[in-house]
Amino acid sequence: MKSYDVAILGGGVAGLWTANALKARGYSVVLFSKTDLGAGQTLAAQGVIHGGAKYALAGKLTDSSEQLAAMPGRWRDALNGKGDIDLSGVEVLSPSQTLWSLPSVTSQVVSFFGSKLMRGRADALPRESWPEALQSDRYHGRVFKIDEPVIDPVSLVASLSASLSGICYQADCEIKGSGGRIESITADGIEIEAETYVFAAGAGNADLMKAAGVENPAMQLRPLHQLVARGDLPDFYSVCIGNGPKPPMVTTTHTDSSGRKIWWIGGDIAEANGVARSESEQIEAGRGLLQKFLPWIRWDEMEIFTARANRAEPLTESGERPPGAFCQKVGNILVTWPTKLALAPDLSDQVIGHLGAPQSPGGNATPLDLPSPGIGKPPWDR
Ligand SMILES: Cc1cc2nc3c(=O)[nH]c(=O)nc-3n(C[C@H](O)[C@H](O)[C@H](O)COP(=O)(O)OP(=O)(O)OC[C@H]3O[C@@H](n4cnc5c(N)ncnc54)[C@H](O)[C@@H]3O)c2cc1C
Repeated sequence: MKSYDVAILGGGVAGLWTANALKARGYSVVLFSKTDLGAGQTLAAQGVIHGGAKYALAGKLTDSSEQLAAMPGRWRDALNGKGDIDLSGVEVLSPSQTLWSLPSVTSQVVSFFGSKLMRGRADALPRESWPEALQSDRYHGRVFKIDEPVIDPVSLVASLSASLSGICYQADCEIKGSGGRIESITADGIEIEAETYVFAAGAGNADLMKAAGVENPAMQLRPLHQLVARGDLPDFYSVCIGNGPKPPMVTTTHTDSSGRKIWWIGGDIAEANGVARSESEQIEAGRGLLQKFLPWIRWDEMEIFTARANRAEPLTESGERPPGAFCQKVGNILVTWPTKLALAPDLSDQVIGHLGAPQSPGGNATPLDLPSPGIGKPPWDR
């Protein structure tokens, strides 16, 4: 039997970030991922390190925007190689995002972004500094820069896993225990016990909770039907401001495995109505939206396709995302969902807050005879 302070189940950003933070604090930790690392939501993420601006679109600062406000600073420290997690190897796709209004939007929302309250979070940009995608005489909206970096999730997963050699394994563990208390877990015949078990398996937490007899918290899945535009596109890391509380479209730019530029498009187009559409209906709706919002780009020359993804979160009464990262103790288990990639530091703080002092410093001494997981692929390369 191998003993550890903490066994983490799940190889997305939540598990990987937490494993790094625990290792840095002297805990003996082991992480098991059922699949390639990041293959759940993490490699589908747009990579936006939200500071809350998107959630302020209702024209006021919400709980969500306040919870997220500290995150870009935490990430910038890690990206600069400062702090307990070194993310200096992560590719920053853009140091900031562009917030752009549809010309039809004259509402208080645009003036809110220009207001004193948002100063330092959203700064109006002069036309000469607008991104190439908006450089047309036909565009007559307002453009702001928001201080929220966009990172490449593939390099994030690679960087977080690089320091976990001898800690991170691919295995589908069997759980022995009941009523929210785990006695041990078995990975390919190797029995492991830990003081604390962290469920960080995203949508996989539902099965883990069932196996461990955990009834509360419950999980909800919020589906998305994202769009991919591929072709000769300029870089565009953007949040579009429409008349509603949700941005009609959010774009990030990535490079696929063949070196072609893609826009990964989320926002309202990918939510409820988008989810209800078939793939061909969603492609048609997406083409229509892009043609209407950015008609100076040759959309007829772009390949458009879609990808579905599920956000896994704790169940809330409203069905909306809870404001911060979620971590609940049940027996010797911590059930976690970061609810946002950006909130991974907040989640690992909460996990650490539930632990006692490190107990089994020798727990990592002998590596387990198990395979290491590979790194998954983003949706446009799957
Ligand atoms: C389309 C999309 C875009 C997004 N964009 C952003 C964004 O721009 N910014 C942002 O902050 N957030 C974003 N998010 C949210 C963010 O991606 C998630 O909150 C975050 O990645 C969740 O991380 P996780 O580690 O909890 O889960 P996951 O990334 O889903 O990882 C869980 C892992 O656990 C593994 N697993 C499953 N079952 C088991 C098991 N039994 N044992 C061991 N391992 C198991 C899975 O294989 C998976 O790899 C986005 C989400 C989606 C879907």
